[in-house]
Amino acid sequence: MSDVSENCTHDCSTCSENCSSRANSEDFRVDLYPEASVKKVYAVVSGKGGVGKSMVTSLLAAETQRRGFQTAILDADVTGPSIPKAFGIHAHALGTDAYLYPNYTKSGIQIMSTNMIVDNETDPVVWRGPVIAGVVTQFWSQVLWSDVDYMFVDMPPGTGDVPLTIFQSLPVDGIIVVTSPQDLVSMIVEKAMNMAKIMNIPVVGIVENMSYFTCPNCGATHHIFGESKVEEVAAQFSVEAVAKIPIDPTVAEHMDKGTIEEVSADGLTPILKALKAEKMHKR
Ligand code: ADP
Repeated sequence: MSDVSENCTHDCSTCSENCSSRANSEDFRVDLYPEASVKKVYAVVSGKGGVGKSMVTSLLAAETQRRGFQTAILDADVTGPSIPKAFGIHAHALGTDAYLYPNYTKSGIQIMSTNMIVDNETDPVVWRGPVIAGVVTQFWSQVLWSDVDYMFVDMPPGTGDVPLTIFQSLPVDGIIVVTSPQDLVSMIVEKAMNMAKIMNIPVVGIVENMSYFTCPNCGATHHIFGESKVEEVAAQFSVEAVAKIPIDPTVAEHMDKGTIEEVSADGLTPILKALKAEKMHKR
């Protein structure tokens, strides 16, 4: 049972309770570079790799930026970074002695990824867990994130050491869980949800990716990976926002060609609503 009050705002500086939220969050927090600014941070997680977490992160960021919010992606999937390629970014990140600059996509999304700091994009990252976790926290603290309204963190899959460090070091406002229908019948997703609970971070939405396939010839819908269970799991964890994304070969093509920004993210509307990113933002 959590000892955290229902009224917890996760701002320990205004509260004197000695609860597990304070223990989980306060000791390891890493500050942003003083000139950087990030208002909201959402972590996109999955129980295992290959379920479309990076694709969903990219679509959420592209749509949020289209709606007029300054958006950023911190690619924390250090050993399997796919974000720069999805946006057609192949340049190195520039930096000074003090900090690194993010690269900008065509529409202006700010991106930082290990693929932008290794010599060759195809070089594997053969670093141990603590080094990887250290790099991710530096991506938060030593990158000159400029006036960001929404940052999406593309998390490493699973519930290991690196996700734990990220949840303790970054002020994550909420988690978006990406699953496949198969994943939902296993315990993997529940483990990810329970990790969020232990860390006292709200799950703002669940995306069931590869939920169905609509035949382009006859229009029939097929549940290739099994019938959807996403509503049941969402109800079990009291998560209100649920989105279903179909299998769509053109999305995979856009990810490969670096043109994911051109894809509409209509299917993710419930999630964007939950993030309060549904209206045009007047700057
Ligand atoms: P993860 O980040 O979970 O490892 P990715 O986002 O990299 O997964 O997706 C894995 C592969 O599946 C990529 O090639 C991606 O383009 C493809 N993919 C993801 N979602 C879909 C979808 N809804 N329809 C078709 N292909 C998809």
